[in-house]
Amino acid sequence: MPRSRQRDRHAPPAPERQKKDPAPPTKPALPRDHEPLARLLQLAGLGCWEVDLASGQMVCSQETLNIYGLPAAQAPASLEAVLQAVHPQDRELLRSTLTELPEREGMVSLEHRVPAAGGERIVHQLAEAVRGPEGRVLRLVGAVQDVTRLRHSERRLQLLSQVFESTSEGIAVSDEQGAIFLVNAAFCQLTGLSAQDCRGRRLTELGDQPLSLASLRQAQQALALKGGWSGEITGHRPDGEATSFWLTVSALQRPQEAATNYVWALRDISPIKRSQEQATYLAYHDALTGLPNRLLFNDRLEMAIAHAQRTGQTLAILFLDLDNFKNINDGLGHAVGDQLLKDLSARLRELVRREDTVARLGGDEFILLLEGKQDPDYSVRVAQRILDSLAQPFSIKGHQLYVTGSIGITIFPDDGQDLETLVANADMAMYRAKAQGRNSYSMFTPAMNSRVKKRMDLEGALRRAVEQEEFTLHYQPKVDLGSGGVVGLEALVRWQRPGEGMISPGDFIPVAEDTGLIVTIGHWVMQEACRQMRSWHEQGFRDLHVSVNLSPRQFQEKDLVPSVHSTLAAAGLEPRFLELEVTESMVMSEVEEAIVILQELADLGVALSMDDFGVGYSNLYYLKRFPMNNLKIDKSFVRDISTQPDDRSIVDTIINMSRCLKLKVIAEGVETSEQLAFLRELNCDLMQGYLFSRPLPAEEISDLLASNRRLA
Ligand code: C2E
Ligand code: MG
Ligand code: MG
Repeated sequence: MPRSRQRDRHAPPAPERQKKDPAPPTKPALPRDHEPLARLLQLAGLGCWEVDLASGQMVCSQETLNIYGLPAAQAPASLEAVLQAVHPQDRELLRSTLTELPEREGMVSLEHRVPAAGGERIVHQLAEAVRGPEGRVLRLVGAVQDVTRLRHSERRLQLLSQVFESTSEGIAVSDEQGAIFLVNAAFCQLTGLSAQDCRGRRLTELGDQPLSLASLRQAQQALALKGGWSGEITGHRPDGEATSFWLTVSALQRPQEAATNYVWALRDISPIKRSQEQATYLAYHDALTGLPNRLLFNDRLEMAIAHAQRTGQTLAILFLDLDNFKNINDGLGHAVGDQLLKDLSARLRELVRREDTVARLGGDEFILLLEGKQDPDYSVRVAQRILDSLAQPFSIKGHQLYVTGSIGITIFPDDGQDLETLVANADMAMYRAKAQGRNSYSMFTPAMNSRVKKRMDLEGALRRAVEQEEFTLHYQPKVDLGSGGVVGLEALVRWQRPGEGMISPGDFIPVAEDTGLIVTIGHWVMQEACRQMRSWHEQGFRDLHVSVNLSPRQFQEKDLVPSVHSTLAAAGLEPRFLELEVTESMVMSEVEEAIVILQELADLGVALSMDDFGVGYSNLYYLKRFPMNNLKIDKSFVRDISTQPDDRSIVDTIINMSRCLKLKVIAEGVETSEQLAFLRELNCDLMQGYLFSRPLPAEEISDLLASNRRLA
């Protein structure tokens, strides 16, 4: 400002200026016949003026006076008076332009400012020199217009367009049908598309489809319902990397028009999300070890308690405190101490299942939450594993470091119903473990403590029993009802626990199953049973078979089938003389896999028997699909067969059904002659029970076989 545009730079030489004094102050006005024109100009906001060069007198229209802020009473007598109303910084240019006007040809256009109340006005000035017939310049005439609002809104538009182009938010504007007609630079940058690519297309039709269609459709549906939408949508950046955008769609109703435009504003929020995730991670994790901190632990425990309350499950909390960490920290420095805590954290994570939480509370205090299927023994096993693991030295910066820990254990719901109580009681139990001489664990409830201790003792003794081969087998005859003779023998394991006598499988098989020791024990049972049966065959009892019970854990072993095969081969026993007893619960959890395994066993040539039938699923459909040879009616039905009509009809049904499925039926637990009579009447094939013989050691069975006694 001011800007001046000249229509003609080759103006004729300046006419001689008349150096006359200004005219006497008569009131200037436009000639009368100009008045309608003046009115029109006023309506258009245009002012005009004229300076007579001969007299130097100036005539202004009312609008000109308004524009220059001059009251009508002080109508300027000369150009100079108008110039005084112009902004001082623009005044000289206007003056010189007008002074030089007589020397120019054509019109001059320029803008200048006029100070006004509350700001300044922008005035557009058009002026030209008017010549007489001989070419002499007679007058200067001009038109002025207040263009303040026009210029301001132009400037505003310019600013808005700069903002539109420079904002980091990608913006696309579409018509009512969603066809894009305007995009900014950021939109192109975010989507990797050019303005040309976008023009006339919908967001769902963009070439490389940077925004996921499913997300867009969801946005469009909401848009149709509500007229606006904002939310997170997925997509990918031009380099192909998956990202999240925040999309805001707003409808723009154009004034006085039915049509609506839509503004689609797109922001790449993955950096924000990443930093949020980072911030959340830092808030919930221990900076040194990367383990969950107290906050996250509390969160998880609260959730686990709520879940356990709904499902009736139990939870265990283990509070671990190192016994001698301070010595290491003080003696070898914090760097070594820190590394020890890190290594320990890694070890702790290895000792538990994925669903369990290991957290660091601070210092050398750790806390574990054991979730899911939970028994007190699991928590104790984990505690023992932690102590065993601590017994292995940590080697850090050339040092072999030994630490021990004390662990307190609480079980939900027995030892507390809420977070605070459970943690406080675990802490208390931990102090009890420290008081007991450290390097140990303690359950919060004394009763639990002794139960667990007994169980742990049993586990330890069982481990030794496996090493020392303290097991033996008893055999119980299976009797054919027709002949009354022994057709087979069921091998039943016994544990001769030193100092405790003979322990029945009911007391130790569940522990062996939990600890996995059953696999070794079961393997031994099978070897021994096959070896013994081969020996009886050699003694002349040629048609006898031996039955071996399989445990669920053994059934899951990958090498079960090859192991059975090699055991038979090693014993030199034909497969048809081995029968494997399985239970329904074992095979029903993974039916299809079980069918495959059972079929492989059947293909080996061994016989299969369904043990304890009637107490489990008793599912006939599956029974038909399993390649079974025999079915053993559970002893609970046999027990009451002579007194309970219901049990009698159940047994009757099982026997009839087995006939249809071409299965042989054996009744177990036959103790009385009444039971025998009923079973005979129902045409049961085979029997087993104290009535005929208790399970006996092999030598006694040899005597029994040699006596050739009829047992039924
Ligand atoms: P099971 O396979 O159903 O074995 C039959 C159980 O009933 C045996 O108990 C047997 O002694 C008992 N029994 C036999 N006749 C009578 C009777 O007339 N009346 C009563 N009340 N009981 C009778 P045991 O030997 O204590 O075995 C219990 C369970 O332990 C067995 O049930 C079997 O599931 C499991 N088991 C035994 N030995 C082994 C083994 O070597 N491996 C595996 N995995 N499990 C075994
Ligand atoms: Mg059995
Ligand atoms: Mg049984």
